[in-house]
Amino acid sequence: MIAAVFEGDGKLVLKDRAKPRIAKATDVLLKVQGVGICGTDLHILQVPPAHPATVGATLGHEFSGEVVEAGTAVTEVRPGDRVIVDPHPGCGVCEECRSGHPDRCGPLYASASAPGHCATIGIFSDGAMTSYVVVPAHALYRIDPSVPPHLAALAEPLACVVSAADKLKVQPGENVVVLGGGPIGLLFTLLFKASGAAKVIVSEVSAYRRKAALACGATRAVDPQQEDLAALVGREMPGGANVVVEAVGPLLPLAIELAHSSGRVLQFGHDELARPAIPVAELLRKEITIFGSFIGKFSFHKLPRILASGVLPLEHIVSHQLPLSRVHEGIELLRRGQAIKVVLHPEAF
Ligand SMILES: [Zn+2]
Ligand SMILES: [Zn+2]
Repeated sequence: MIAAVFEGDGKLVLKDRAKPRIAKATDVLLKVQGVGICGTDLHILQVPPAHPATVGATLGHEFSGEVVEAGTAVTEVRPGDRVIVDPHPGCGVCEECRSGHPDRCGPLYASASAPGHCATIGIFSDGAMTSYVVVPAHALYRIDPSVPPHLAALAEPLACVVSAADKLKVQPGENVVVLGGGPIGLLFTLLFKASGAAKVIVSEVSAYRRKAALACGATRAVDPQQEDLAALVGREMPGGANVVVEAVGPLLPLAIELAHSSGRVLQFGHDELARPAIPVAELLRKEITIFGSFIGKFSFHKLPRILASGVLPLEHIVSHQLPLSRVHEGIELLRRGQAIKVVLHPEAF
C-alpha cells in the first residue's frame, strides 16, 4: 500500500509500505476512508519544523475508517462498523490519564519544563495517509453509516474545537472575533453561530478563506492587511469582543487588544516558534481571562451525535477532496490559503 511518510527536513514522501497487522488483542485494523491534511502537518513539514514528529512515521491524524479486523479482546466494534478515531486516546491507566490529561500520556512526554508530547497517532506513530492503519480499540467511536466519509474526517479537529469552546461558554447575544479563517477558525465560527453569537468577525488574509468565512455565517470577514481590524471591531462591537479566538499562532497580543473588559481570550493557534510580547497593562486593566486549549480532551464522545445530527453545516469546511497521490498538491493549496480543509482518499490512489 502507498503511504505518505515524513522523512524529516520538510520532506513527505509517497512510499510503498506493507499492510499493517494487528499486534495486540486490543488492536483494530481499519480501512482508511478519508484523512484530512491538518495545519499541524504543515507545521511538521516546515523547515525548521514548528511542530515535532517522528521521522519515518506515516502522517495523518484526522481520519475516519471502516473496521476490517478486530483483535480477540475487542468487544466495542466489529468488522463493517464505520468509526472515527481519537488520535491521542491515552493509555487510560497512567497517572496523567487518570488525572484527566491523556495528552501527557506516553513515554515521549518528559516534564512540564522539558517540552515533550503525547504519542499522537499520525504524528509520533503511523497514521492514516495510507490505505490501512492499526489503532487501539479504545480510540474508536462508532458513527452512523449516513455520515459521509469526508465529513467524518473532520471529527478530530472538531473535537479539539468543541473541547476549547466548552471553556469559553459563548452565550447567545455575545460578540466574537476569530483571528484566522482556516479550518479551525471556521469550525469555531460554525459552532459560535450555532450557540447564538450575535456577531462573529473573522480576520483572515486569504480572500478564498474570507469567502468561506461568510458562508460559515461570519458577520464580517476582514483582511487585516487592508483594513484596520481594531477600528472595525470598535465600530461593530463597542468596547471590544466578549470572546476572541486566536487561531493563527503569534497573535495573542492582538487578541488581548480586541477583547472587551472581562473578555475571554483563547489561544488555539499552535506555533512552537511563536514568542509574542504580551501587553501586560492592557491584560490586567481589562481583567481579561486567557485560556489555552490543546487537543480534544473528553469531547470525542459527542462527535458521533454532532456528525449525525447535521447541526453544523460542515460541508463548508471541506473545500477539496483529492486522491492520496495528490497530497503534495493539497499541501500547496493550504500553504497558499487556496483551500480550507483538504481531505485525501487513499482508495482513489
Ligand atoms: Zn489536526
Ligand atoms: Zn496514559
